[in-house]
Amino acid sequence: MTPMKWFYSFLKKYRFYMIVGLIMTTAISALYVVNPQISGMIIDDVIEKGATEKLIPLVICLFIVTAVIGVLRFLYQIAFEKASQGVLYDMRDKVYRKLLEEDFAFYNKKRTGDLMSRQTGDMDAIRHFVAYVIYMVYQQILSFMFALIMIFTVNVKLALCMLAVLPFTALATYMQSKKVKPAFRRNRECFSSLNAFVQENVSGNRVVKAFAKEDFEIEKFNKENAAYRAAQISASKIWMKFVPIFEILSYALNVVLMLYGGYLVISGEITMGNLVTVNGYLWLLNNPLRQAGWLVNDVGNFITSVEKIYNTYMEEPNVKTPQSGVIKKRLEGAVEFKDVSYRADDEDIVMDINFKVEPGQTVGIIGSTGSGKSTIMNLLCRFYDTTSGEVFVDGINVKDMDLYNLRDNIGMAMQDVFLFSDTIEGNIAYGRPDCPFEDVKKAAIMADANHFIMAMPEGYDTIVGERGVGLSGGQKQRISLARALLKDPSILILDDTTSAVDMETESYIQKQLKQINTSCTIFIIAYRISSIKDADLILVLDNGRIIEHGTHESLLAQDGYYASTFRSQYGEIPAEILEKKGGN
Ligand code: ATP
Ligand code: MG
Repeated sequence: MTPMKWFYSFLKKYRFYMIVGLIMTTAISALYVVNPQISGMIIDDVIEKGATEKLIPLVICLFIVTAVIGVLRFLYQIAFEKASQGVLYDMRDKVYRKLLEEDFAFYNKKRTGDLMSRQTGDMDAIRHFVAYVIYMVYQQILSFMFALIMIFTVNVKLALCMLAVLPFTALATYMQSKKVKPAFRRNRECFSSLNAFVQENVSGNRVVKAFAKEDFEIEKFNKENAAYRAAQISASKIWMKFVPIFEILSYALNVVLMLYGGYLVISGEITMGNLVTVNGYLWLLNNPLRQAGWLVNDVGNFITSVEKIYNTYMEEPNVKTPQSGVIKKRLEGAVEFKDVSYRADDEDIVMDINFKVEPGQTVGIIGSTGSGKSTIMNLLCRFYDTTSGEVFVDGINVKDMDLYNLRDNIGMAMQDVFLFSDTIEGNIAYGRPDCPFEDVKKAAIMADANHFIMAMPEGYDTIVGERGVGLSGGQKQRISLARALLKDPSILILDDTTSAVDMETESYIQKQLKQINTSCTIFIIAYRISSIKDADLILVLDNGRIIEHGTHESLLAQDGYYASTFRSQYGEIPAEILEKKGGN
């Protein structure tokens, strides 16, 4: 499918409005021809021949035609507006759905600001095309042709003379469109880049301030701003060069009429009324010529925008839900990784991951930063697909499972906590928006969030700013934990979720976790031994590999990486555990 075919697939639904609009546009173009005829009749019959009784009916005709044109213009604009808004609504909806379908890899490499431009500026160029450019082009062409035909009926020689100007106009329009297209493309690229820059800097404003990098950012912004200005100016320079050419060509028509038309009147070949009629048509010939350049710009803009939106839309996510994926409303929570490896950008991220977890067990994952802990959980949720090896949940390969069903059964408190600008209640109930308030509160109590929420002036109705501004790091983590708990998932993943809370709160949360649904499998990623020491299985990761695994005691007894981490956090390892090792 080409971008234009894709665009047409949206327009098709509104062809009724388009056809009705175009019929009215045709009627208007035809009516435009009538008034100059009436003016000519007033000159020839009323003024020249003295038939004064015709004046009033002719003026009434003039008035009626003008009124009908006015009403039709109103109606067709409504028709085109309806079609354009409909197309835009459908397209925005479809593109947005696709954006939601895209995987992590897509969002890793795209700039938010760029994606925003697709949904705003580019969409608007399409709206403008459907609501305005289509009928304008059509109407200008029709008016031009009707006027030309009418001039031919008045006098063939005069019409041919005026026609001689046309090839020049066509050539100018062609040249303008050819030159302006790349300039417009560049224009939009600069705009998109400027947009993305501003978006990034507004989001990262706190970092900019903390590093006192305002001057540096202003300098960078100035470069973006200057590039956009330069692109705009160079685009304007191109079309500005053509403005005088179009002006001259349209005045050339005037000159031809006055010289040759005047000569024909003097030589008696046409009447004075005929000259006035043709003069009336001049506007219908001139206007399309003047508009041509602008309309070509608009069309260029439209084509670029459709291509950009289409290209974004066509990027297929690597992670897709299978055609008829296995749907199991409530998973039990058994998890197995079999020889799992994941590579990204030609780099091994995790390798040879093997482990098996029964429903209801707790797994602790520990390891240095960048060792691949979050990646393993991302593979379990199918945010990425394994490069080799398989991940099984309840014995079913996750790739064969309905993606939404799988994720619906997983409650995840992500390492990078994201809160929506909504109430605290809304944020916690994100996964179950219709659940009763008591459940929200219960989840908050389990996450030890209830008391600080209640201490806020508006309690659960407090609106948290974008990304949870106004909350401390530990508070955000606890809201994110409550959000994951409220889902009552089969698999709960806590990625670094208690890193920003004090030990006492952490131990309270751990006690609460033990009380949740006993069949819930829990993964806890942490740096603190205290967070994971009670787990049924502890995986120790280093450089993308599981280097040790076992329970707290058995790992201490191995006296490896885990034991040295324990020592750095708690001091010496209890003698009885080391004795056990000696006994082994
Ligand atoms: P931390 O404890 O700091 O959260 P982690 O153990 O969770 O670290 P991961 O986030 O799993 O570490 O990342 C492991 C490594 O893989 C890092 O070096 C990271 O840069 C890299 N990595 C992760 N995902 C991708 C990706 N999609 N593309 C490229 N590199 C990636
Ligand atoms: Mg991580």
